[in-house]
Amino acid sequence: MSGVFLTLNAGSSSIKFAVFASDGPTTEALLQGNVAGIGSAPAFSAKASSGGAVQNTPFPPLSKDTNHEAVIEMLLPWLETHLDGQPVVAVGHRVVHGGQYFTAPTLVADDVMERLEELAPLAPLHQPHNIAAIRAVAKWHPDTPQIACFDTSFHRSQSRLNEIFALPRELSDQGVIRYGFHGLSYDFIASSLPKHLGDKADGKVIVAHLGNGSSMCAMTDRKSRASTMGFTALDGLMMGQRCGDLDPGVLLYLMQSQGMTPDEIETLLYKKSGLLGVSGVTNDMQILETSDDPNAQEAVDLFCYRAATNLAALIPSIGGLDALVFTAGIGENSALIRAKICAHLTWLGVSLDPAANHEHATVISAADSAIPTLVIPTNEEAIVARACRAHLTNS
Ligand code: ADP
Repeated sequence: MSGVFLTLNAGSSSIKFAVFASDGPTTEALLQGNVAGIGSAPAFSAKASSGGAVQNTPFPPLSKDTNHEAVIEMLLPWLETHLDGQPVVAVGHRVVHGGQYFTAPTLVADDVMERLEELAPLAPLHQPHNIAAIRAVAKWHPDTPQIACFDTSFHRSQSRLNEIFALPRELSDQGVIRYGFHGLSYDFIASSLPKHLGDKADGKVIVAHLGNGSSMCAMTDRKSRASTMGFTALDGLMMGQRCGDLDPGVLLYLMQSQGMTPDEIETLLYKKSGLLGVSGVTNDMQILETSDDPNAQEAVDLFCYRAATNLAALIPSIGGLDALVFTAGIGENSALIRAKICAHLTWLGVSLDPAANHEHATVISAADSAIPTLVIPTNEEAIVARACRAHLTNS
């Protein structure tokens, strides 16, 4: 039956949505938008595929106290009035943690929900919102199939050496391993590589997903071989508010000598660290870049330096580097950050063409660069829409 797919991406402070024609292209949404700033200053925005404003009915008023569940409950009926009477034939969700259970998009059923609940403590700022969105849709359209698409699934092609920690093996056996995240974004970039890299698409490629959450993934054959995020989405690169790599001894010190509780430590690591913590100003890279506050500059410099050291640490997993790709909010839009990261990688043979970088061209490396360096916009919604289509085709 033809109609539309709805994709929902419930993040820590935002809910993004997109509507696709079930028999149309998955790279172009008919309608998409988001409610950002949930918990602080929520704001709704949406645009139609024509690029024009979306008119039919205004979105209900939002306040600081409007939580994720309330936003979803406003969003679903609002969407209903913008579908021109077309049925929603499937709803796809970005779900952050699939643990070891889910290696591919999965039709939601009771046993799947139990697994998602079980994994919630591993992604405390995201998974509960993903679960809430699935429940809200089940109430809205009980008979519509819902497909969970996991940020961890893309990484299940990693070798055991990339997965396990140097902890007692009982813990690895219990699932305390590196999972990796941003898999929907990496999946989309992997699917785009042949168009941009030709023969090198299946070579040794590192993709840097630099947004408010940031990570990197090393690929060969367009499959994940290693990633910087681990058991949770805290590990690896410095991020907007998350610390990235941290000596675990710091946590012991904070608990034992400073008397911090687990909840306080969670808030510190997930919400008060990274660009925000080091700058003392904001987690917003666009603001930090132009700030003359020395702490803001130090935060930017640390972000770039840590990105380069993390990238270097991924190289043994793929035995070299044939191409580097930048994506996501910072990776796609900040020429300065790309240049600063690449300045730490000249020893690898990375050399940018400043004009191409400034213009955010697809290929930003100089003609004589040993490592082609590209900017490819990511599209997580397209991957979720493709999973909806695959489900309907196969069912
Ligand atoms: P999320 O992880 O929430 O999906 P995004 O991928 O949207 O995050 O990235 C958000 C980040 O991208 C913010 O730090 C924002 O400042 C940054 N960003 C967006 N546009 C620009 C720009 N033109 N220059 C620098 N940074 C930018």
